[in-house]
Amino acid sequence: MEPNDDSLTRLQFLIASGVAGALAVCAKSQDPLFLVEPGDKHYESLRSRYNTCVDLRPAAIAPCTKPPHVMRAVQHANRTQLPIAIRSGGHSFEGFSSNDKGLVIDLSRMDRVQFLDGNRIAVEPGCTLAKLNDELLPRGRLLPAGSCGTVGIAGLALGGGYGFFSRKLGLTCDSLEALSLIDAAGKLRSTKDDPELLWACRGGGNGSFGVVIEMVFRTHTAPVNCTRHRLRVRGLDLPRASKLLEAWFEHSAKLPPSHFSAFVLNHTSLLVLVFGHGDEGPAVERFLRDFGELCDETQRGTPQPLAKSLVGHYGRVGPLPFKNASAGLYRDFDDLRKAAPGALDVVLQTPGLIFQVNTLGGAIADPAAAAVSSYPHRDRPWLGELQAYWDKPAQKAPLLDAFKKTQNILRVNGITSHYANYPDIAFTDWEQAYYGGNYERLRAVKRRYDPDNRFRHPQSVRP
Ligand SMILES: Cc1cc2nc3c(=O)[nH]c(=O)nc-3n(C[C@H](O)[C@H](O)[C@H](O)COP(=O)(O)OP(=O)(O)OC[C@H]3O[C@@H](n4cnc5c(N)ncnc54)[C@H](O)[C@@H]3O)c2cc1C
Repeated sequence: MEPNDDSLTRLQFLIASGVAGALAVCAKSQDPLFLVEPGDKHYESLRSRYNTCVDLRPAAIAPCTKPPHVMRAVQHANRTQLPIAIRSGGHSFEGFSSNDKGLVIDLSRMDRVQFLDGNRIAVEPGCTLAKLNDELLPRGRLLPAGSCGTVGIAGLALGGGYGFFSRKLGLTCDSLEALSLIDAAGKLRSTKDDPELLWACRGGGNGSFGVVIEMVFRTHTAPVNCTRHRLRVRGLDLPRASKLLEAWFEHSAKLPPSHFSAFVLNHTSLLVLVFGHGDEGPAVERFLRDFGELCDETQRGTPQPLAKSLVGHYGRVGPLPFKNASAGLYRDFDDLRKAAPGALDVVLQTPGLIFQVNTLGGAIADPAAAAVSSYPHRDRPWLGELQAYWDKPAQKAPLLDAFKKTQNILRVNGITSHYANYPDIAFTDWEQAYYGGNYERLRAVKRRYDPDNRFRHPQSVRP
């Protein structure tokens, strides 16, 4: 997935054009609220978003650099009856961090990381994963998070957050120890006073309960090296693609928790990634040998310094047009057995369409983590993702048709559990799909922090 240097460019732009001066005035004790509205020369650059397919025009954008700005912005929305969308890294697939004719609270410049002691950190919401790695890795520390460097820590952790280290260390939200937010009344609230809010924000907190202004995470010892293996097949037809998918489920189930794998079918080409940060023991060797026998090419990696390797996965530079969404969370291949032939067939016939399955499981399945978080899918060790990318406008409509068709095949064949951080605006039963039996409990939290639904997007928790 794609990184960009959008926030840096925007900040440089603001400094050059004098807006940073306005922010500095705003940061003094009697801060007036600083709003950017349509017609303002900075409006277009500030409303810019990672996914250029999402074209929303807020009534106002409040770029905030400290908590009092956020409080004033919330009070302004209450006075003017504007709905609030909250933006940190801006990477929501469906643009849930923006809105039409509402207020956007933009936290992209609140990105400080502070060590509280040897292994705990306080992080502001706009911190990107690249910045987090830059702060942590030189100190030998790590937060299990996603792979894309420009994703924001707040959006990632509030919806769960998985990546190369999750099978060993759990979801990003499993390392979240506390957070502070500004609620719908404009008041500072802390999970220290309310464990139920922490439960809700570990997997169900995106844009629903308030504006998260700081998160405290436990960090972990970072491995020095990691190893990446890649297996490839080209020119696939349906029988071979189906056989490979089923075999990959069987073999990836036996990988140790130190290893992550992804099955990436891009039109007729398959890439299988194995990323490990521990002992390359017999189980990994068996995977490379036995699954490798089914592939055309096995590129065995050698240990590389972790920081260098992670940067190599930060992804392409955006913004760009795309459609991505969850393609289901699976207990095993049987969940996919009925849907697989139809879904794979569409992908094999559609250039630009990617069906990817990632390994979860391991520490994510820990019952102790399940007891204290609203992320409901811990019994599902595989996550599917559908992705469509295009260069030319003419490619968009056929790709989106194929995307819809694939999602429909998955749905009618029983794939109904989905990852909240990979939303699809077309999911009709999203409450159940993202939160399962936890949705009603999330609603109870919503009623306490935002009874009038001031914070909202098309798939936020309703009061
Ligand atoms: C290129 C790319 C790569 C990705 N890779 C991964 C990956 O490896 N692993 C993974 O788990 N996910 C991944 N994702 C999905 C990612 O976790 C979600 O898109 C995430 O919500 C983005 O967070 P953000 O802060 O960047 O986005 P934003 O668009 O700013 O926010 C996303 C959502 O979180 C809410 N939100 C943001 N900040 C706050 C806040 N301070 N308080 C309350 N609510 C807030 C918003 O309202 C919105 O609903 C990827 C997405 C992209 C586009």
